[in-house]
Order: sequence, then C-alpha cells, then structure tokens
Amino acid sequence: MFAKCTHHLNSSFIRDILAVTQQPGIISFAGGLPDPTLFPKAELAKAARGIHNQYGGDLYQYSETAGIPDFRQWIADHYDTPGSKEEIIITTGSQQGLDLTTRCLINPGDKIIVEAPSYLGALQVFTANQASLSAIPIDDEGPDLDALEHYLEQERISCFYTVPDFQNPKGTSYLLQRRKALVALAERYDFWIMEDAPYRELRYRGETLPSLQSLSPERVIRFGSFSKIIAPALRLGWISAPQPVIKIVEKMKQCADLHSSGYDQHLVLEFLRQGSLPAHLEQLKQVYGERLKIMFNTLSSQLPETVKLSKPDGGMFIWTELSETADTMKLFRKAIKQGVAFVPGEAFHIDGGSKNCLRFNFSNSDSEQIQQGIKRLTALIINESE
Ligand code: PMP
Repeated sequence: MFAKCTHHLNSSFIRDILAVTQQPGIISFAGGLPDPTLFPKAELAKAARGIHNQYGGDLYQYSETAGIPDFRQWIADHYDTPGSKEEIIITTGSQQGLDLTTRCLINPGDKIIVEAPSYLGALQVFTANQASLSAIPIDDEGPDLDALEHYLEQERISCFYTVPDFQNPKGTSYLLQRRKALVALAERYDFWIMEDAPYRELRYRGETLPSLQSLSPERVIRFGSFSKIIAPALRLGWISAPQPVIKIVEKMKQCADLHSSGYDQHLVLEFLRQGSLPAHLEQLKQVYGERLKIMFNTLSSQLPETVKLSKPDGGMFIWTELSETADTMKLFRKAIKQGVAFVPGEAFHIDGGSKNCLRFNFSNSDSEQIQQGIKRLTALIINESE
C-alpha cells in the first residue's frame, strides 16, 4: 500500500516512551527536554510586540526559502562559522537540516559512519534515506580513530556523523587532538563530516574548543539549533556549509516546506537584537550546571563503584554503564513501576550494543526530583548490577 521507502521508517523509541514518561507522578530523566519554567517567556513576548509594531501584517507573509536574510546575517556574525550569510540556511529545527542534507548527499547504499552510541534522530534519518550505516566507538575523549582509519582503509565512506560537543547520549566532548586528527582523516580519505552541535553553547565548565568546521571549513557541514538555548517549539535551526551544499539544500527545502516559519524567525531575530540571549544563556548554564553536579554527585555517592559514569562539562545528559550482564531494557520496565524513567542504552545503536548502559537527562528535573528519582532507582540498579 505504501511506497518502498516507507519500509525504512523507524519510530523513535524515545518518542514512543514519552507518553508513558509524562504520566503524573513519574520522574522522567528520559527525554532531552529543556526545563519549560526557564523558557524566556517575558523576553519572547516583548520581542513579539516589537515585531508586530515593526512589520504588521507582513509578518504573516511567505518568505525566502533560505531564511530571513538578516537572521542568517546575525548567525554569520555571531557564531564561529566561516563565510557570510550565503553559507547559512535556516531550517525547521536542526532535525530538518540533517534530513535535507542527507537527502542531498546520500544515495541508497552509500556509507555513513556514526558514533556508537549515537543520536537516535540522526539514525532514523540515515535509515529512512537508506544509507548503509556502520558505527565506531567513542570514549570520553572522542572517537576511536584507529578503528575509523582501519575501516577507511577498506571502505569508501560518504560521511561521518558526529556530535562533538556534549554528545547525545554520552554527554562527553572530543578533545582538541581528536578533532584535529578526525578532520585530517576526512581530508585524506575524502569524506564529509556532519557536525551536529545543538548543545555547544551549553558549557558549564572549561574552555570552548574549536568547532570541527573551524578546523576544516571545506569538509564540514555544521548544524546549529535554537531548540536548546531558546525553545524547541519554535523549530528553528541552521546549517553552515560551503555554498554549493547550501544551494542544493535550499532546493531540497523548497520541496519540503518552502521555508521555515517567517514569524518565528522574526521573533527570534528580535529576541537576539534586543540583547536577551546572553543573560538567558547565563541562567540556563547556572541552573543546568548545578543540576549536572547534583545528579553526578548523587549517582556517584549512591551507586556501587563498579558503575561507570560519564563526566560531561555541559549539555543535558549523563551516561551510565552498569555491570556487563545488566539489562537496562528490563530495568526500564521495573523503573517505570517505581515512577522513574530513563532511556536504555540500546536505543542509541543501529544494531544493539550498550545493553548495560542508560542515559539520564538532568535539564528537565529540579534538584529535589533528581535526588528522589535516583533514590527510587538505586535499589533496582544495585540488583541489576549484581
Ligand atoms: N541533534 C541532536 C544531537 C539532538 O539531540 C537533537 C534534539 N534532541 C537534534 C539534533 C534536533 O533538534 P532540533 O530539531 O530541535 O533543532
């Protein structure tokens, strides 16, 4: 009944469990959600009044596929991206950026390397577009480049997909040396790097590292997002890439949705021009940074020493590795009955893996909920780890 390409559509485990985890009484560490109490509502309302006064009815008109020029200019001026606004396109969330770019670069069967574990939404996009996926492990300092090079000696790949800053799901970031070595491999073996960076601005300690794109602008396609730093409902993201990539993605975007919401673009641009972002970001960093600390300390003080925790400097997630024989899918079902949720590790793999791991989100629970939720989980985790 449906076209063949639909056979490759998967439903996201996280989206499927979101309904369960949003039941009253459940403490959810599952979704990668920002805290709704921190959305900059007053500043967005002020920006909305501003754009109504400036543009009136024009706000609701169709607009350019690549995005409102001044908005693209703002991104070109304020982010560490190479090039001008001609090398930026606005997308309907960075998720659309991943999809449009994949459709433009990948034929069915082309090889993409992903991180193991990796962002589930990207895995869905690549699978739907019939890419041939292989995964290479990442540790706390970045990808296993020996494994990657070994692979590259045998096979030609089109693309390497990565979240180098505060990865989803591990929370860890690539060290500078690994960043440099990865782009050197891309240059040597001639493949694209898709640098997905929605958490890059959410750094709570340490120094910002150069983006992969800044190390190799001709090789890297970078994806940015306003979802984590302003609000996901606005569905605004951007791609920064060499102009030929932007031009072809623009044509693909015309097919997809003509353009991202002009109203939302004007709203965010006005919010940015009114200077509301720096103080808002400071607040997010302060609150989320504190929650990261509380979650990390609670987990490490309550769980056995054999349980390994990732140690992120930013983002929204902590990754936890239980004993080798643990089964976090089973643990998930028991945890729901105790009123607490997380995402089992195997959801982040193309072919199983991390069955003894789990991802905790810390941005959408306050310190009380974090402590309470981990207390509910501790006995279950200790049982599972034995
Ligand atoms: N990339 C990563 C790594 C993500 O975690 C997410 C959202 N969870 C996205 C992309 C998509 O974000 P959005 O479409 O809201 O910009």
